[in-house]
Amino acid sequence: MSARGPAPGEGAADAHWLLRTVELSEHCPPSETAFSVGAVVVAEDGTVLGEGYSRRDDPHDHAEEVALRAIDADDPRLAGATLYSSLEPCSSRASRPRSCSSLILDTPIPRVVLAWREPAVFVDCDGAERLRTAGRTVVERPDLAEGVRAVNAHLLGAA
Ligand SMILES: [Zn+2]
Repeated sequence: MSARGPAPGEGAADAHWLLRTVELSEHCPPSETAFSVGAVVVAEDGTVLGEGYSRRDDPHDHAEEVALRAIDADDPRLAGATLYSSLEPCSSRASRPRSCSSLILDTPIPRVVLAWREPAVFVDCDGAERLRTAGRTVVERPDLAEGVRAVNAHLLGAA
């Protein structure tokens, strides 16, 4: 993959990549029981290493794991990369043994940026806390959460 954009960093660059995750989330096959999420992993120089969205290849796929699946686990660029997700990475899940926060902790990715903290609709999520406790930098941009909520509005109405 050779797509590129701004080098990850606080402010406009983080906003650029989070808006990309919202775009990706709009491709999710619809679900009544799971959020639509987009994720992108960006190297230090702005190269896209992997992208994903919920349910892309399988009904149980989470966006972060699809994005990480595209990347060689030994890719040295992971050590300087930022993972962007439109929603807080999950800390537990019913359908698969490994949560997205565990999958992220399996990588050296030092920085995670999310737009929206997972609301307690389906499970109680403490992914951001787990990542911080493990020494990763977690940046939250609630100012960009509106687009994420809009994509998931049908789920929130039932909450
Ligand atoms: Zn997940």
